Amino acid sequence: MTKKRVLSCIQPTGEIHIGNYFGAVKNWVDIQDQYDCVYGVVDLHAMTMPYDARNLQENTTQMFIDLLACGIDPSRSVLFVQSLVPQHTELTWIFSCVTSYGELSRMTQFKDKVDQLDESGGKKNFVSAGLFTYPVLQAADILIYKASFVPVGKDQEQHLELSRNIAVRFNNQFGDYFPEPAPLYTDVPKLMSLADPTKKMSKSLGEKHYISLFEPEDSIRKKVKTAVTDVGGQPGGEMSPGVVNLFTIIRACGNIPAWEELNRQYAKGTLRYSDLKNIAADSLVDTLRPFREKRTEMNSDRSKVNRLMHESSAVARRYAAKVLDDVKERTGLVK
Ligand code: AMP
Repeated sequence: MTKKRVLSCIQPTGEIHIGNYFGAVKNWVDIQDQYDCVYGVVDLHAMTMPYDARNLQENTTQMFIDLLACGIDPSRSVLFVQSLVPQHTELTWIFSCVTSYGELSRMTQFKDKVDQLDESGGKKNFVSAGLFTYPVLQAADILIYKASFVPVGKDQEQHLELSRNIAVRFNNQFGDYFPEPAPLYTDVPKLMSLADPTKKMSKSLGEKHYISLFEPEDSIRKKVKTAVTDVGGQPGGEMSPGVVNLFTIIRACGNIPAWEELNRQYAKGTLRYSDLKNIAADSLVDTLRPFREKRTEMNSDRSKVNRLMHESSAVARRYAAKVLDDVKERTGLVK
């Protein structure tokens, strides 16, 4: 039986934090045998917000390395760099012509990002057409591979819905061709900020709020040690968000025996938060050590990385070229 295709992408916006890893990338790694996986580092998407051109190429390469270090395996999955597959942008134009201005105007992420730009003010207060049409490029990313499933978080549901609408409209106008991509929901943990556990862990909150996936051990330990908890609740009472977050980290690292034992202690009211923190820090350090080693090793052989990046993107280009060829035929373009 042929495997269903899954498509998922990540922007090269600097380092991955443990929230990105446990909430998204780990799942990509885990489903590699179950699905025909196509993953991408989407550098063209990173151009829709103000960015520094001097860093983009390096950030893209580093993100490619980081995904390999986490366990994405180019012999089992395709891992492309978006700008190396020009068919994405060609299909975007064709899709722009079956997408209405009205539906793009309703995208809440567009409005949120415009608000972010407004807040930063000054020269950056420029809203590009690229930011507006971003979801069309995203639809092209998915449909150029005729993907059946896209792992999504709540924030991306609206964009996936738009991709489905684009597929349906295209099919109605030019004949049945694209599958309607469905969301792939998986039970992934949501990590909260260490310094303010009422907020989702995010780099935009600042250094002390997140742990980078490749952070040195002493820094990981320091951040976990100073993580916000509480003054101690009633035995068996409801856990505070900071305590829940440390339990979530231990469980996400797969340290289930410790997680169960600490839960028992919590229920009895004998849990010491210093023990909870030590075990959370140890679990993280042990889980992340091999990633850091693999990253260092790959960073020392950039020519090999470059070769892998181009080879895997060439596989993606072959898929994409075939689909674009069919699309051109159907839409009446000269081939
Ligand atoms: P972002 O860079 O925020 O778009 O995140 C990339 C991926 O990581 C998305 O799939 C997010 O859902 C996931 N992610 C980001 N932050 C967290 C977090 N704190 N906990 C779990 N998953 C997260």
